[in-house]
Amino acid sequence: LLGGIQVGVTRDLFIHLSQNKLLNTSAKRWGLKLGARSVVAGTTVKEMIKSVLDLNALGISCTVDNLGEFVYEKEEAIEAKTQILKVIEAIYEHDAKAHISLKPTQIGLDIDYDFCLTNLTEIVEAASKHNIFINVDMEDHAHLQQTFDLINTVKQKYNNIGTVIQAYLFRAEDDIKDFKESRLRIVKGAYKESEKVAFQNKKEIDQNYLHLIEYHLLHGRFTSIATHNHHVINHVKQFVKENNIAMDKFEFQMLYGFRKDMQLQLAKEGYNFCTYVPFGSDWYGYFMRRLAERPQNLNLVANQVFNK
Ligand code: FAD
Repeated sequence: LLGGIQVGVTRDLFIHLSQNKLLNTSAKRWGLKLGARSVVAGTTVKEMIKSVLDLNALGISCTVDNLGEFVYEKEEAIEAKTQILKVIEAIYEHDAKAHISLKPTQIGLDIDYDFCLTNLTEIVEAASKHNIFINVDMEDHAHLQQTFDLINTVKQKYNNIGTVIQAYLFRAEDDIKDFKESRLRIVKGAYKESEKVAFQNKKEIDQNYLHLIEYHLLHGRFTSIATHNHHVINHVKQFVKENNIAMDKFEFQMLYGFRKDMQLQLAKEGYNFCTYVPFGSDWYGYFMRRLAERPQNLNLVANQVFNK
């Protein structure tokens, strides 16, 4: 029990730190610090593309995230959009096996909905010319409905867009049905949400997670199963075998720098595997959420601080 309380406290602390605006802003000037280097693929497009091509050579595709969130100035949102357009061009020029992940708050959702919609449409249109898929990451519950509205609007014209379903939310079951024609990433959920909207109990979240994955594998277009949990992965392997689900209907996804051996092993076994590759100077919030999920990731910090 005490261990459980301690993990809960640590999770809350890191989530709290991830949302600290002053630290988010200051960290942009620090360069990759605190061990972030092992889970963030550099700060430039050049460094990121090198990591992507290295992973492609191992049979692994990538989804690239130009890190950034909680943007409140139009200039900053336009800068982020411009950078994402550069990433699309770089993927095309290098013929990399990769697509894009982005966060709506990075391209202006907290500034103005229509401004964000214009930015997102421009990105999706540029990507559609090169047949590149855009995944809209799901942030906290406060942004969820607007994120779905953005996607539904853009989807009317382009089909290279999809999003994320978070299993900790009560409404996930309804949402997955609404989005069954879309390519979806299914995750447990990384933010701290109230008991009014989300399961708090790990067992309930895990159960719902498997249920949603199975639903989309059976009824959906394409499923990205994004987890580091080997129990979930083994369950999915068995489920797709028993239900004759074709290998090109799903993929496993993990974050850059985590469980590298398992990433490679799954690719070797012939499963589609996609690594989520974050890069850029706005790494702080992302890194703090990784520590919140798994306090053992603090080892990454210790290793890098002491092996400097
Ligand atoms: P956990 O439940 O944290 O771990 C379960 C078990 O797996 C652990 O007990 C341990 O046995 C094992 N394990 C886990 N990690 C390791 C490790 N590094 N080494 C050894 N064993 C390990 N969340 C969002 O809210 N929105 C998003 O858009 C989003 N996108 C994501 C994209 C990707 C590719 C991934 C992988 C995650 C994403 N998440 C997102 C985060 C997600 O919601 C979870 O918070 C996160 O994945 C932790 O849950 P888990 O299922 O991976 O494993």
